[in-house]
Amino acid sequence: MKNNANIEDLKIAYRYKSNRDLKFTYYIFKILQHPNLLNILTSLTNGIIKYNLPFKFLVKNTVFKLFCAGVNIDEAFSKINYLKTFKVKSVLDYVSEGEKSDEAFDNNTKTIVANIIRIGKECPGNYVSIKISGLESPEYLTNCSGMEFNKDLITSPKFDKLMRRMDLICNTACTSQVVVFIDAEDRCMQDVFDRITETMMEKYNKEHAIVFNTLQMYLKDRLTYLNFLLHDSERKNYVPGIKLVRGAYVEKERENALKEGKLSPVYDTKKETDDAFNEAVEICLREHKKIDVCIATHNTESTLHAINCINKYNITDHYTKVRFSQLYGMSDNLTFNLSSNGYNSSKYLPYGEIKKAIPYLIRRSEENSSIDGQIIDEVVRLKKELDRRKIC
Ligand SMILES: Cc1cc2nc3c(=O)[nH]c(=O)nc-3n(C[C@H](O)[C@H](O)[C@H](O)COP(=O)(O)OP(=O)(O)OC[C@H]3O[C@@H](n4cnc5c(N)ncnc54)[C@H](O)[C@@H]3O)c2cc1C
Repeated sequence: MKNNANIEDLKIAYRYKSNRDLKFTYYIFKILQHPNLLNILTSLTNGIIKYNLPFKFLVKNTVFKLFCAGVNIDEAFSKINYLKTFKVKSVLDYVSEGEKSDEAFDNNTKTIVANIIRIGKECPGNYVSIKISGLESPEYLTNCSGMEFNKDLITSPKFDKLMRRMDLICNTACTSQVVVFIDAEDRCMQDVFDRITETMMEKYNKEHAIVFNTLQMYLKDRLTYLNFLLHDSERKNYVPGIKLVRGAYVEKERENALKEGKLSPVYDTKKETDDAFNEAVEICLREHKKIDVCIATHNTESTLHAINCINKYNITDHYTKVRFSQLYGMSDNLTFNLSSNGYNSSKYLPYGEIKKAIPYLIRRSEENSSIDGQIIDEVVRLKKELDRRKIC
C-alpha cells in the first residue's frame, strides 16, 4: 500500500457486518451524535453504577453491543475467531475498572493470566491488554508516583505484591509468546507505570517486544521520554515495545492540574498533540531495528503518515515490527483495509461485566460525541455503505 492508498474502501471496511449489524451501528452512532440523547444514555449508565438501576438491558443492547465483545470470555473468543477470518488480530481487554480490594486485584490477575494462556493455545498471534489500576488501587499508585522507585518502593510489601502480579502476567506472556500492552491512564500514575513497565521490558523483551508501554502523545513530556527509552533500552540491551496513542483523558488532566494549581501536562491545542504523535511515529519507524511499535489511532492522516514512513525507511519486515490498532466498534475502514493490504492490524476488544465496563463506555461515547471527534466521518461512511448495499 503506498501513501495514496485507499483506506476508504467501504466494501472491505464493513464486509464483516451483516446488513442488520450495519444498520444498528449507523443508528447508534446517530444517537451518539445527538448531545441530548448522549446525555440521557450517560445518565442511565451512571445510574447503573451508582444506584444499581435496571438499565443493563438497554446499555447491553446499545453502546455495549457496539463497543464491547461480550460479557464473558467465550463471547470474546468467538469475536476473536470471527475477526481472524478477515486477517484482523485482536487485543483481548478484560475490563474491570474501579476495583478496590486485594481479593479483586488477585482475581483480575488470575483472569488475565488464564486469558494469556488461552490466547497462546487457541489463537496464537493475538494479544492481551491490561490496566495496572486493575491490579492495585489508583490512590496507592498515585502515591507511588511521588516515591523513589529503588529506595522507597522496592522495599514496600504492598509494592512487592503488585510487582509479583505484574511479573506473573508478563512471565506467562513470555512463555506463551503473547504480546501484552500495558495501557496508559491518568498522568498522576504514569511515573510508576513507566518504572514497572521498564523493569518488565528489561526482563522479558530480549529478542522482540513481549511487553509494551503506552505513550500518550498529548502529554508534553512524552517525546523526551521516548528518546530516554530508546537510549536506556540500548544501554540495558532490551527491545522496547511502544504503543503510541494520543490520550483519552484531556479534560480530566486539565481539571486536575487546575485544581492543584499546576500547569496542564497536556498540550494546549489538538495541533500540538497531532504533531507530537506524528513525530513519535517517525522516530519509532526510523528506529525500527531497535524497537517494536503499535500505532493505536483512528486518525487517517497519522495512519497514512505511518505507511509513508514504512516505505521511506524500507521496513520490509513491517508485519512483525509495526502493528496498527483501532478500538472495537470504531474506524473499521482503517482496520480492515490495512489488514487486506498486508499490514498487521488489530482491534482492541474489551469484554466483561456491563457494570465494570461503564467507565470505558462513557469514555467512548464522549469521545464519539465531541465535535472534533471522528463521529461525523464514521456516520458518513456508514451511510455510504448502507446506500451502496441499497438498504436504508
Ligand atoms: C487501540 C487503541 C488503544 C488505546 N489505548 C489507550 C490507552 O492505553 N490510554 C489512553 O489514554 N488512550 C488510549 N486510547 C485512546 C486514544 O488515546 C484516543 O483517545 C483515541 O484513539 C482518539 O485519538 P485518535 O488518535 O484516534 O484520533 P483523533 O480523533 O485525531 O484525536 C483525538 C485526540 O486528540 C487529542 N486532543 C483533542 N483535542 C485536543 C486539544 N484541544 N488539545 C490537546 N489534545 C487534544 C486527544 O488525545 C483526543 O483523544 C487507545 C486508542 C486505540 C485506538
